[in-house]
Amino acid sequence: MNQIRICERCKAAFPLDKIRLFHYTKEKDMLVCEDCCKFLKNMDKRIIPSPKTDTKTKIKAEPKPFYKTKYCSRCEYAFKVDINKVDVLRCPYCGKTDRICEKAE
Ligand SMILES: [Zn+2]
Ligand SMILES: [Zn+2]
Repeated sequence: MNQIRICERCKAAFPLDKIRLFHYTKEKDMLVCEDCCKFLKNMDKRIIPSPKTDTKTKIKAEPKPFYKTKYCSRCEYAFKVDINKVDVLRCPYCGKTDRICEKAE
């Protein structure tokens, strides 16, 4: 007696000897027909290289420079800083941090 299985991809009925077990993911195996098994194997090869390029483009994304004019009241020196890159505001003239304020326009 021929056993019939349903292909999990194309949902068609096939005799058991035309059905293949395809390792879809580590956790999941799929019962698929011979054609679908070939198709999934080919698709697998195409899918593998793509995550690498994905992560590369994500790493490249940096915060946009955001320049602000700051003012050191100690030496009356105004300077521009990219506040996205600097965590401690320091006067480039005297090197001190305690008298830095927003530049009064
Ligand atoms: Zn199929
Ligand atoms: Zn200063």
